Amino acid sequence: MSRIAYVNGCYVPHNQAAVHIEDRGYQFADGVYEVCEIADGYIIDMTRHLGRLNRSLSELQMAWPVDKKAFVRIVKEVVIRNRVRNGLVYIQVSRGVAKRDHVFPSASVKSALVITARRSDPAQADAKAQTGVGVITVPENRWDRVDIKTVGLLPNVLAKQKAKEQGAAEAWFVDEDGMVKEGGSTNAWIVTQDGTLVTRPADHGILRGITRTTAIDAAEKLGLKVEERHFSVDEAKNAREAFITAATTILIPVVSIDGDSVANGHAGSITEQLRFQFRIEAEKTSVYR
Ligand code: PLP
Repeated sequence: MSRIAYVNGCYVPHNQAAVHIEDRGYQFADGVYEVCEIADGYIIDMTRHLGRLNRSLSELQMAWPVDKKAFVRIVKEVVIRNRVRNGLVYIQVSRGVAKRDHVFPSASVKSALVITARRSDPAQADAKAQTGVGVITVPENRWDRVDIKTVGLLPNVLAKQKAKEQGAAEAWFVDEDGMVKEGGSTNAWIVTQDGTLVTRPADHGILRGITRTTAIDAAEKLGLKVEERHFSVDEAKNAREAFITAATTILIPVVSIDGDSVANGHAGSITEQLRFQFRIEAEKTSVYR
């Protein structure tokens, strides 16, 4: 079966899908995006992803490319046309196509919308959740508006490539005080010896991950204490457990940091419980394709 992409009003074969060379997303990274997980036909946390997209667009003074009702219809249509029951849907909005000039184009230039979907195998994610992954740490070198989910991801690309070259799955950005911010495409968490979940506050300096938000709700349902505070690389290395969250992976245990084992170097039970509870919690903010 061939894949179908949505590009500015048309459903086109994926291998022929293209944007204009003067799309501002291509030229200036002047665009925002969302990635949602699809599990058993449900677009997970869709309402929360739409809320964050709305925020990203308004922070950058960008208009919705189509009205929100039509937008949801198109997202579902792409998922259906690609027959994705388990996988991901990728949504990208750029400021549109205009003669290359740094300043915003005139208001008559419509923002551009691209949506793609692809299948993935839930068994692979489950296997990763069993074994856990390693992370490396890298100095923070991104701009200070990483709370906006923009397509400007070059520092993240370089950090994740470095992680891969060192046999790790993620790179954690660390601020100048040695405190962990977040991963290249995930939020970072630890579990303290007394079972408290700790993750950096999302008011500034990290992306407020949708999976992070739902995981906080899930933790509260389990009666686990959650502290939104800074934690150092050393505290993470000495934690009872550590894990990462993102729509692409949900919750994955971190079993080593810069080559040093976290606890006994195995996936921990609190992370596992939370991963299970996440599914129940996410039903509330998910929609069927
Ligand atoms: N932090 C960064 C830098 C990301 O790019 C992402 C996801 O792409 C996340 C965190 C996790 O966000 P979410 O849970 O919404 O996928």
